[in-house]
Amino acid sequence: MTRPNIVVILTDDHAAHAIGAYGSVVNETPRIDEIAAAGARFDNCFATNSLCSPSRASILTGTYSHINGVTTLVTPIDAGQPTFVSRLKDAGYRTAMVGKWHMGDGEGHNPEGFDYWDVLIDQGEYHDPHFLSSEGLRQVEGYATDVITDLALAWLESLEGDDPWCVLIWHKAPHRPWQPADRHADLYSDPIPLPATWDDDYATRASSARRAAMRIAEHLNAEDLKQDPPAGLSYEDEALWKYQRYMQDYLRCVASVDDNVGRVTDWLRARDLFDETLMLYSSDQGFFLGDHGWFDKRFMYEESIRMPLVVSWPNRLPAGTVRRDIATNVDFAQTVLDAAGVAPDPRMQGRSLLEATGRDGFYYRYWEHDDGFHKAPAHYGYRDHRYKLIYFYNDGMGLLGTGPFTYPGEWELYDLERDPDELRNVARDPAYASVFSDMRRRLRQEQLAVADAPYAGEPALA
Ligand code: CA
Repeated sequence: MTRPNIVVILTDDHAAHAIGAYGSVVNETPRIDEIAAAGARFDNCFATNSLCSPSRASILTGTYSHINGVTTLVTPIDAGQPTFVSRLKDAGYRTAMVGKWHMGDGEGHNPEGFDYWDVLIDQGEYHDPHFLSSEGLRQVEGYATDVITDLALAWLESLEGDDPWCVLIWHKAPHRPWQPADRHADLYSDPIPLPATWDDDYATRASSARRAAMRIAEHLNAEDLKQDPPAGLSYEDEALWKYQRYMQDYLRCVASVDDNVGRVTDWLRARDLFDETLMLYSSDQGFFLGDHGWFDKRFMYEESIRMPLVVSWPNRLPAGTVRRDIATNVDFAQTVLDAAGVAPDPRMQGRSLLEATGRDGFYYRYWEHDDGFHKAPAHYGYRDHRYKLIYFYNDGMGLLGTGPFTYPGEWELYDLERDPDELRNVARDPAYASVFSDMRRRLRQEQLAVADAPYAGEPALA
């Protein structure tokens, strides 16, 4: 069988619940849905550290944060470590990376293993973005999501011969500060529905979660909102106004993503390459869209950790498949390598998603404790198909980007079958005592299995 061409489109902070194929009630994304219809939609794909740079590093290297070293936003990657791209290149693939890299720049941190790379600096800009390539730094006129697609397609157009190729098209959108393209500036003028958990009062949640500075009512800034709230609104009404303002721009940025996903699909179809190409669309993590009153991600709660993942490869995968097995961002590397028939690096920790993973649950760890802007607490946990256990250990452990303060450890346990919105923490509920201790054992088992270590201050298992 001939080796497939590979397209990996990754966006930044695009929540699954803002995608039509995942049942969005706030927008439509026909071009992303088209990939799901032609192939598979993964309903339980999760980030193992719900933060931009760490998730990108896990996707590239097929390893957890503590293995690849990118634990926080400000820890640059050692770009020389094995990635699925370096494996593909060694196996004869032509390789390219265009768009948001966001794992550091400079010697040792710039993209490696690519024939062509052309990337935004750090977070990058939405309008007339700067790009860094092997040729140096330059500014390109236009809207980032369009320009990134233009550059990727231009590279594909430049290829000659029959060797397979792999292109990473990694967008900045729809990341904060949510600046849409001019052509989408008038979309979503009707009121956008509120999520069911908008009024979450955090009654049973650990105090660790309440400290996070991610409240739409209080923590969106002037750059995010782009205009002042109308004068004289009550606290509640001003929060509702901010929600609309935030969601309008977020969804307008998604509209441009969807258009540009369609451009890539159209390019493949026009050349009769769509059926033989492995195409993945995903985001580095999920996002709170007013869920629990929040924006942003970081927490091990569902809206944050759930990654959209739709995959098409008509020559190999049946159309219209819905996958409910547990997948993670650590699996992407081995999935691509499996499709290409290239052996994974022995260090890789995932499983190929071309078959069901058979996984019972997965280990999660958020390291960037109490950073200056978001104040989200360090925690780790384990989620299976029914339950989720979280331990907030509340210590930055001296890592770059973390805050200096520590707080007492706290547990949360959710029964996702009875409480899918995670509104009732049952960690101290006697009815769940045996579930709690069983989940603690499984957390420890999986933590050690992926070669991480427990926080020294975690109380010993009884
Ligand atoms: Ca992100």
